[in-house]
Amino acid sequence: MKVGVPKEIKTHEYRVGLTPGAVREYVAAGHNVLIETNAGAGIGATDENYRKAGATIVGSPQEVFASSEMIVKVKEPQPSEWAQLRENQILFTYLHLAPDPEQAKGLLESGCTAIAYETVADGHGGLPLLAPMSEVAGRLAIEAAGAALRRHAGGRGLLIGGVPGVPAARIVVVGGGVVGTHAARMAAGLSAEVTILERSIPRLRELDELFEGRVRTRFSTMDAVEEEIFAADAVIGAVLVPGASAPKLVSRGMLSSMRKGSVIVDVAIDQGGCFETSRPTTHADPTYEIDGVIHYCVANMPGAVPLTSSQALNNATLPFGLALAGKGFAAVLENPHLRAGLNVYRGQLTYKAVAESLGLPF
Ligand code: NAD
Repeated sequence: MKVGVPKEIKTHEYRVGLTPGAVREYVAAGHNVLIETNAGAGIGATDENYRKAGATIVGSPQEVFASSEMIVKVKEPQPSEWAQLRENQILFTYLHLAPDPEQAKGLLESGCTAIAYETVADGHGGLPLLAPMSEVAGRLAIEAAGAALRRHAGGRGLLIGGVPGVPAARIVVVGGGVVGTHAARMAAGLSAEVTILERSIPRLRELDELFEGRVRTRFSTMDAVEEEIFAADAVIGAVLVPGASAPKLVSRGMLSSMRKGSVIVDVAIDQGGCFETSRPTTHADPTYEIDGVIHYCVANMPGAVPLTSSQALNNATLPFGLALAGKGFAAVLENPHLRAGLNVYRGQLTYKAVAESLGLPF
């Protein structure tokens, strides 16, 4: 199959749909890969790196879209991109269609077959193409907390790990899923005192086994949240209630009980955030202060580390992308996990929750 990768055009998006390493795998499987010139610039991958991996470099997105049977991207297509999609073409990328009626209209009109990374499933109720970005965001959350805790950034002037004779920071992670586990792992690795608050008892058991006493676990109630944040130096918001906005677990009133110069990293901000005082920020201006508490609420945290993020994403998408390139739409019919990713098929919405939230037929 001819597989095309345009350069990402969404503002501040530096990731790329296929890394040179992934291109080599596609080429070895007998596919032709077209890469738009400079598509890998954001991760330091040159056209020459792609040529060595076996790709053909083309000069414009138009050439990629016109010549490819499947387009592999990172971000949802922008208006100039969905205008170039056509019937029988497969689009494999993050879509996040539910809140985006304009994109949905563009994709439906194009007649393309769109498979959304975020709804591809695994056999255990997980979302394998979302998980790598949660891993990145979770680990990054502790780096962000460490930076914000520094005095010149408005923080308490505290080193996360302390030093011999001086206590380490107390870090509270609310939500023990993918983000929370990776945040806790990073924090524990830096010798912080870590507590995870989690609502699922089976998950609390797993976390207890995983960390073998290195991290405290606590069932998440309003009382527990209030008590834990009172003593925390940094709180990581990592909750998710599938299909719903993040629950507001920390009110403005509770915030005032926190220490001055303590830090909130609200990773769940892309679902509205779990602190009442959170509002989305950007990498250019990531923090603000309310009641003496520094808030970090960047909605696209993995964008800060596009090299790691592109590699992690490519590792996860590769088997699915190769199946699509090998069998075309038949791969979707054969593989229920890939079928779960199908959002649009020839002018029809094929994902119930997306259709319902857009108020369109399914
Ligand atoms: P996940 O489903 O793996 O984990 C969420 C966890 O929250 C679950 O274990 C769940 O039981 C727990 N939970 C739900 N309600 C709770 C409560 N009241 N108290 C404590 N725990 C509760 O999800 P994830 O992949 O870890 O993602 C977490 C959040 O991070 C999501 O909102 C996701 O969209 C977001 N995220 C943001 C970025 C970013 O760049 N800002 C990147 C990746 C993920």
